[in-house]
Amino acid sequence: MSREVYMDHAATTYMKEEVIEEMKPYLTDYFGNPSSIYKISRKTKMAIDESRMRIAHAINANAEEIYFTAGGSEADNWALKGVALANKNKGNHIITTAIEHHAILHSCEYLEKLGFEITYLPVDEFGIVKVEDVKNAITNKTILVSIMFANNEIGSIQPIEAIGSICRDKGIIFHTDGVQAVGSIPIDVKKMNIDLLSMASHKFYGPKGIGALYMRKGIKVDNLIHGGAQERAKRAGTENVMGIVGMGKAIELAEKNMKEERRRLTYLRDKMIKELLNIPKTKLNGAEGENRLPGNINVSFDLVDGDTLLMLLDSEGICASSGSACSAGALEPSHVLMAIGLNKDLAKGSLRLTLGYKTTEEDVEYVVNIIKEAVNKIRDNKKKWQ
Ligand SMILES: *Cc1c(COP(=O)(O)O)cnc(C)c1O
Repeated sequence: MSREVYMDHAATTYMKEEVIEEMKPYLTDYFGNPSSIYKISRKTKMAIDESRMRIAHAINANAEEIYFTAGGSEADNWALKGVALANKNKGNHIITTAIEHHAILHSCEYLEKLGFEITYLPVDEFGIVKVEDVKNAITNKTILVSIMFANNEIGSIQPIEAIGSICRDKGIIFHTDGVQAVGSIPIDVKKMNIDLLSMASHKFYGPKGIGALYMRKGIKVDNLIHGGAQERAKRAGTENVMGIVGMGKAIELAEKNMKEERRRLTYLRDKMIKELLNIPKTKLNGAEGENRLPGNINVSFDLVDGDTLLMLLDSEGICASSGSACSAGALEPSHVLMAIGLNKDLAKGSLRLTLGYKTTEEDVEYVVNIIKEAVNKIRDNKKKWQ
């Protein structure tokens, strides 16, 4: 009777079959160190080059501007700390937003300890930064602006092109955490004036533990890992060849399917939002239409505890996520939901459903029905005890 429905694609994704097939030879026959010169090594070296080209192609960069990392968090850490340390002679001011991923926010806190000053820009009720605010926050000490492309909790998409052009005009380095956007919506680093962009393969049906940082040629960034000459000596260490191969295949497939998949997911998203908002006292968190990631749904139910709801959904085979995160042993409401003006109760009563490649219209109908029942059950119980 009960079925399994995965609606947490923003947390991570399964790998596509073609990705696994592409990786297989690099788990077996082609194990050679890419830095060696014999045949099985030349094969791995070529595979790395091929993947780098595929990634560059997907974002309109050049292959030599792509540096592999161990994922999104590492790319974010590298961008922030690497730019801050390499440009500290020019100034100590960094601009970011209140809704960034913790890989950005905690890197900023670390840089504050080293003497950097950080401006955390607010967002409006839909989770969007005002371009004017970015402009007004810039001082003659500003060296870096880091604003995420799309938010992982509420799916809001930032005016990246407009922010990029302001930064380029003022000669300030512009980084964007593109982890949720890459593979899902079009990105053109040249047209959008992006200097650095973080990516993570496991968010677009590639393997975990592999990501990349695009760094525009000529941007000054400190090296991350000192050692051998890998990644142009900026990130030393023998490469994660199978991960790199998988990431390259995953981004190629994402690029190929993007138009159709974006249309399909947007349709499912809007259908699901509409049906969930039929539940009384329910609110949509984040933006609508074009300013929202295709597969992202985030709603708050009044008088419902999000974690109780998640447990009920789990017992019906549904994987989703709530608006609280366990920090320091306590359940804290999400900083993103607080930043768009929710009170603590509504933030804790939120549910994130993120759709993906295998999501069907039947899944959406099934999950909506289970949520309706679960919300009613939680609210009825609450009334009984009052
Ligand atoms: C998942 C995610 C990260 C972290 O990526 P990892 O590969 O898990 O390190 C960073 N930023 C955003 C927006 C994310 O969604």
